[in-house]
Amino acid sequence: MATELFHASVAQLSGMLARKEISSVELSQVFLDRIEQNRDLNVYLDVRPEVTLDQARAADERIARGEATALTGIPVAHKDLFVTRQWATTAASKMLEGYMSPFDATVVQNLDRAGMVCLGKVNCDEFAMGGGNENSAFGKVLNPWDKGCVPGGSSGGSAAAVAAGLAPVSTGTDTGGSVREPAVFTGTTGLKPTYGRPSRWGVIAFASSLDTPGILARTAEDCALVMNEMIEFDPKDSTCVDLPKEDFARYLNTDIKGMKIGIPRSWFAKGLDDELAASIEEVIRTYERMGAKIVDIELPTVDLGVPVYYVVACAEASSNLSRYDGVRYGYRADRYTDIQDMIKRSRSEALGAEPQRRIMIGTYVLSHGYYDAYYIKAQRVRRLIANELNGVCNEVDAIISPAATGPAYRFGEKSDPVSAYLSDLYTVPISLAGLPGIGLPCGIHSNGLPLGFQLVSARFTEAKLLGLAHRYQCETDWHKRFPAGY
Ligand code: GLN
Repeated sequence: MATELFHASVAQLSGMLARKEISSVELSQVFLDRIEQNRDLNVYLDVRPEVTLDQARAADERIARGEATALTGIPVAHKDLFVTRQWATTAASKMLEGYMSPFDATVVQNLDRAGMVCLGKVNCDEFAMGGGNENSAFGKVLNPWDKGCVPGGSSGGSAAAVAAGLAPVSTGTDTGGSVREPAVFTGTTGLKPTYGRPSRWGVIAFASSLDTPGILARTAEDCALVMNEMIEFDPKDSTCVDLPKEDFARYLNTDIKGMKIGIPRSWFAKGLDDELAASIEEVIRTYERMGAKIVDIELPTVDLGVPVYYVVACAEASSNLSRYDGVRYGYRADRYTDIQDMIKRSRSEALGAEPQRRIMIGTYVLSHGYYDAYYIKAQRVRRLIANELNGVCNEVDAIISPAATGPAYRFGEKSDPVSAYLSDLYTVPISLAGLPGIGLPCGIHSNGLPLGFQLVSARFTEAKLLGLAHRYQCETDWHKRFPAGY
């Protein structure tokens, strides 16, 4: 049992609430106080204690009536990409500063229905574009393990919130790694479900064929508990897959003896930090000791993931972000001559450098004359990558790979966009194939920062994936480490 409430897992807190050892109001107040005391990390963008405590009181009444779910009364932080009625939603952009949505995203609604208590909205990269949370219009998020380092991105606020004990669990979104990479940079556990499993309704769009809501938590078990309430077919999202409700915790205690785990060793070799490489070898030995069968696999097309991703994601972003025109949403320039000038000035003044760069790349690859050469070519290669990964995942139970090339990097180290894009090599192929992946901690680097790895499995096998991750967490205690002072 964790000694501090703010270090406890969702599973532990759920038990304490059920046994009435603590009320949701008390628990929520603990986190609201922590949020206030740790403002310097710049994790939260909007906190409204009265709204949070109202939800907590309602949760306590529900528990008293005996109508609680496993999540009733548990606080949660939402990435500022999910629209919310009671907290402003900005996507960390000046474009949407102060925007109040008339409705809640489906994921927010589902967790609210389960009785979770919202602590507020957390910082991220602007429109989820980035891997270090350095692209927020409202300032960077600091990594509680080392305030000179990035927490990962784009769900950097979500990861830092869990790592620093400012929320027991949070939502994130993963388009090309934005849940898995911040998880491994902060020693937390981050699940990206299969594309099309969680609803995208009310998630501010970046790249619609890739955007996937996910979870950052302390453990795989906690991810399973949240998945149970978060996932439900949503007719409002045309790419949401209509599958029957399932219990994502059903494989947590499964025996992994005889399960096959694929290791794409030639992929590992690409510029991986030595200590991370060694700790992933230790992960492989741990699974072997638990009885898994380790097999070598080859993934020759994954090296094309980064260029394909940045063509597809930018193309979709250029289209999705065209709605921010100064007319319908958010910011409008003060001075302009005509409507064209108004749109140009509003977009130039309110969108940051990274969204502008991606809109330009995306517009270019979609333009007449370049469409076939870039966009269509990228779509074809995407299909090859997806076929290869899907094929391999049907032969093994899971794949082990890195989720990043090393531990969290220092602020400014990847300010050149190409070096930032290249560091997404381990996460984007999985996104292009729509597969579920989970990032989880597996060591501490000699520089004191957490190390982590990624497990990937076939589409719609999140329950098995969570089982495999949970078994690893039963054998190790890396997920129980906290940054000094937090
Ligand atoms: N780092 C990747 C990018 O910048 C992934 C972002 C994401 O998953 N939202 O696009």
